[in-house]
Amino acid sequence: MSRDLRALPKAHLHVHLEGAMRPETLRELCARDGIPVPEIRGYGTFTEFASTYVAACEVMRTPDDLRRMVFEVVEDAALAGCVWVEPSFYAGHHIERLGSEHGIWEMLVAFGAEAGAHFGIGVGWMAALDRTYGDDDAERVTALALALHASGAPIVSFGLHNDEVGFPPELFADQFARAGAAGLLRTPHAGELEGPASVRGAIHALGADRIQHGVRAVEEPELLREIADRGIVLDVCPTSNVMLSVVPTIEQHPLPLLLEAGIRCSINGDDPLLFGPGILEEYELCRDVLGITDDQLADIARASLEGSGAPLELVAAGVAQIDAWAGVPA
Ligand SMILES: [Zn+2]
Repeated sequence: MSRDLRALPKAHLHVHLEGAMRPETLRELCARDGIPVPEIRGYGTFTEFASTYVAACEVMRTPDDLRRMVFEVVEDAALAGCVWVEPSFYAGHHIERLGSEHGIWEMLVAFGAEAGAHFGIGVGWMAALDRTYGDDDAERVTALALALHASGAPIVSFGLHNDEVGFPPELFADQFARAGAAGLLRTPHAGELEGPASVRGAIHALGADRIQHGVRAVEEPELLREIADRGIVLDVCPTSNVMLSVVPTIEQHPLPLLLEAGIRCSINGDDPLLFGPGILEEYELCRDVLGITDDQLADIARASLEGSGAPLELVAAGVAQIDAWAGVPA
């Protein structure tokens, strides 16, 4: 009999807030607003996917909508056995309906704290740049993230979203240097829609602590060694990679190769609304289809906590529970 993966404490580190909205919530809000429900699932290309994502943002009309979404995302994380959730967010998609980026972030942080206390898990946030919006936008988002962080808000990591093609990591070296100096974890997307060069850029130009995806590092054995040596965590999202044609089938997903290369990986849902499985189902998929063992799953859960922006006490308590789950003698 296999162990219950829900009982394995874990952190959800690669999850876009709006992309984790419950499908029924999206349907309900679309009906309320009289707008067509965005066609979800069945993409093939990142462009098709991204437009659906923006449509999903449009149902966030009021602070109560935002609060509901945050509560549901945190509850879903808790139900999946997460002890920490670190959703990423770009406030610019909401300013037309919800006001200033600063005000939106303040609401988000307050709702996250309330939801975390209610469901008994830790909530931190990843403020993300959109790599396609240029330097002024990146500057504004960076200044805001650093100001929020300095004021004590749990903005723990600094991301880089959207299509890598044509927007290499090197463009954002300055912003990432400042975020890193301020104590934020550097967590750009790379190695999803572009290959090893993008991953190298994330490491060398941005100083990545974690990389969202990073899976295309498998194209270069040398790079795998470097990621392993540096202890960089890859926040892997198997179903997303199949849905966006990054890998041809789930059976061919490189997670086992990454683990074999000694790389610390976390397992994540990316955008459960758009791709289907939540984090728990992704763990199950990795066990059932990729043959990841319980010991490896325990390592993955440890990597997720140790690579997260969670407070040290939360990480220590979670790791002790992971050891107990895996049968490691105390
Ligand atoms: Zn992502």
